[in-house]
Amino acid sequence: MSQQKNYHMSPDEFRRHGYAVIDWLANYYEHVEEFPVLSAVQPGEIRAQLPPSPPEQGEPFAQILGDVDSIIMPGITHWQSPNFFAYFPANSSGPSVLGDLLSSGLAVQGMLWSTSPACTELETHVMDWMADMLDLPGHFKSSGSGGGVIQDSASSATLTAILAARERATNFASNEHGLSQRLVAYSSSQTHSSLEKGLLIAGIGRENMRKIEVDETFAMRPEALQAQIERDLAAGLLPFFVCGTVGTTSSAAVDPLPEIGQICREYGLWFHIDAAMYGTAAICPEFRYINNGVELADSYSFNPHKWMFTNFDLNCFFVADRAALIKTLSILPEYLRNQATESGAVFDYRDWQIPLGRRFRALKLWFVIRHYGVQGLQYHIRRHIELAQQFSQWVDESSLFERLAPATLTTICFRANPPGIQNEATLDKLNEELMNAVNATGKVFLTHTKLNGKFTLRLAVGSIRTEAEHIEAAWQLLQAGLVKLIGRK
Ligand SMILES: *Cc1c(COP(=O)(O)O)cnc(C)c1O
Repeated sequence: MSQQKNYHMSPDEFRRHGYAVIDWLANYYEHVEEFPVLSAVQPGEIRAQLPPSPPEQGEPFAQILGDVDSIIMPGITHWQSPNFFAYFPANSSGPSVLGDLLSSGLAVQGMLWSTSPACTELETHVMDWMADMLDLPGHFKSSGSGGGVIQDSASSATLTAILAARERATNFASNEHGLSQRLVAYSSSQTHSSLEKGLLIAGIGRENMRKIEVDETFAMRPEALQAQIERDLAAGLLPFFVCGTVGTTSSAAVDPLPEIGQICREYGLWFHIDAAMYGTAAICPEFRYINNGVELADSYSFNPHKWMFTNFDLNCFFVADRAALIKTLSILPEYLRNQATESGAVFDYRDWQIPLGRRFRALKLWFVIRHYGVQGLQYHIRRHIELAQQFSQWVDESSLFERLAPATLTTICFRANPPGIQNEATLDKLNEELMNAVNATGKVFLTHTKLNGKFTLRLAVGSIRTEAEHIEAAWQLLQAGLVKLIGRK
């Protein structure tokens, strides 16, 4: 048979270029600390270097990879740098990248068990492992009434939970007839914006979202939650959903899950727990207290793509009652009918998520868990918490800085508050200047939030490369930066 002309990359070329890309990444990891953490390019600077039209003829791979160095890298903010302390960690690790690469190469669609049985079965299995690693109650496992599924993001997990909650609250009538009642959802004022987005998408409406006030630790006040539910019931509305957070995005607050869970039980509301950032800590027995009350939840989610050394995207979403979820999201067109599904003996994960298609994400999670082992994960989680706590102690002992929220685990909220400055607006400005000054050095990247109206700096520890020396350097930089700023005033 004669070989038809084609433009594809041959297996031999793929092998060669593939090795080059792995070499490139290994080299990057070795030198990532040397890059300025925050990209300094101006808007439009990257695009200006790209040709206006796509190439007519294919180009050599070496040239493409070369352009990554010259055009793309200056526009990269180095999330994998040991000096990245902004937002939240978004880790990658060797085993995770390699698992993801295999997933890309196999490129299976795991929407049904039958479209790749290993994709579904490995996922069910590692999600049960995860439930055990976090010591979640048995009903979150596939052997119980519920089970776990991998979602792309915490945002999707929350939306999925909202939809199942909406259907359960309306006896599955909303799917049939649309919303006929005013459903009301509750969270604290500190809850992640993805909840609001999910509620908008689910047709709940902004008017029906209640942001419950928080206490001095920025955690939801359960008595305020209950009072609001009572008011809404008295007004003839239908409360249906509460989101509690373990580690809020702004200040890493932990909501009082046992009290919220009791209220949800009492009123029959769906209780979702968003533990996107801090959920990983529960792998260590001594930090499992953050999940106290999880036994009362209908759903629970956390992001290995933040702090569990697994590259984006990978969210672990657990439900206590999989029947409610599947009944909400299941649609079976003729072209997807198959024996395994009809037999009821398998999970078809397309019924547990919004899209139909799905990547083989379980591979990277499996690789990460097997590479590190539970003890390896625990070691690094403990180390990160230790480092963050060390930083918090320095802040507490300093006469120039103060802490503005509890230092529960790895996110430290603080600000400069040197003696002699009383005016809050002046302090805000000073802290903003300090943040910009240290970020401009390229040696660290920190971001900010506002707590009780105060401009607050955040140091979020969790990169796999961060060691004591990096925390120390960040602290030195902040102190020196402050001295320089007040010296000038
Ligand atoms: C990061 C974060 C989210 C959003 O996560 P995605 O996976 O990007 O959707 C939601 N909630 C909390 C508490 C978070 O920390």
